Amino acid sequence: DIVYLDSHFVPKEQAKISVFDRGFLFADAVYEVTAVIDGQLIDFNGHFQRLQRSCKELALSLPITKEQLIDVHHQLIEKNNLHEGLIYLQITRGTDSSRFFDFPASSVPSTIVAFVQHSTVINHPNAKKGISVVSVEDIRWQRCDIKTVALLAACLAKHHAHQQGADDAILIKDGYITEGSSSNFFIVNHDNEIITRPLSQNILPGITRQAIIQLAQEEGLKITERLFTLDEAKKAKEAFISSATTLIWPVVSIDNEDINQGEVGHLSQRLREIYLDKALKK
Ligand code: PLP
Repeated sequence: DIVYLDSHFVPKEQAKISVFDRGFLFADAVYEVTAVIDGQLIDFNGHFQRLQRSCKELALSLPITKEQLIDVHHQLIEKNNLHEGLIYLQITRGTDSSRFFDFPASSVPSTIVAFVQHSTVINHPNAKKGISVVSVEDIRWQRCDIKTVALLAACLAKHHAHQQGADDAILIKDGYITEGSSSNFFIVNHDNEIITRPLSQNILPGITRQAIIQLAQEEGLKITERLFTLDEAKKAKEAFISSATTLIWPVVSIDNEDINQGEVGHLSQRLREIYLDKALKK
């Protein structure tokens, strides 16, 4: 594979950064993951806008324009012959001469890295059979709205889920579900109302989440942003997660309790189809 690193495209074996890079030492970095289907970027505008916001919140300079970034993405798709999968982009506060906590001088350039991940997006088996999740306490920091690479709590949650034999974890804060370990979380109640947690500093403003809310409204479906408990989720008619990586994957069990008798829900399936349809037409 060919990797993008600070204005150069290099074979992945040659893509190396300093041990003094602040992304490595402090997780002082932001990232984005954009899905690629049929060689096309999905929802890139949303991802770029969120990247700008993440940088602003952390006073991290974004030394590349939107047009340049789109070009980097397209070149990665071409050079790696990426038909379907993901493009990972990370921007760190650059490389210091030592391990100083304080920000380096503004003359220190950011590090920009991007690479492709070949993966199945459209026909992923989990989209058909659904996934199982287990609940874990949300121990993340208080700025989950910023997409930083400080992902240790998410890694612990995912590891815990896999150890329990589940596919993924959903996170609980003060009795309410925040989101998945790397996704937003939705339930559908028995009145076919779609419910997801409102945006705040406790969740990542998912680009896929936003697209789902918009298309649900366009389709005349009832969609509400409010808090809901683990108990309400377990009693729901359907549940699903959303992210660029998964688009929409139905959830068929929570803490070993079946949702919809362990079957993939109709609305989850329909939303996924409409989402894909719209994404591919853009
Ligand atoms: N929430 C968290 C914690 C995530 O890590 C992600 C994606 O990685 C999402 C939500 C979904 O965001 P998006 O739809 O923009 O991929």
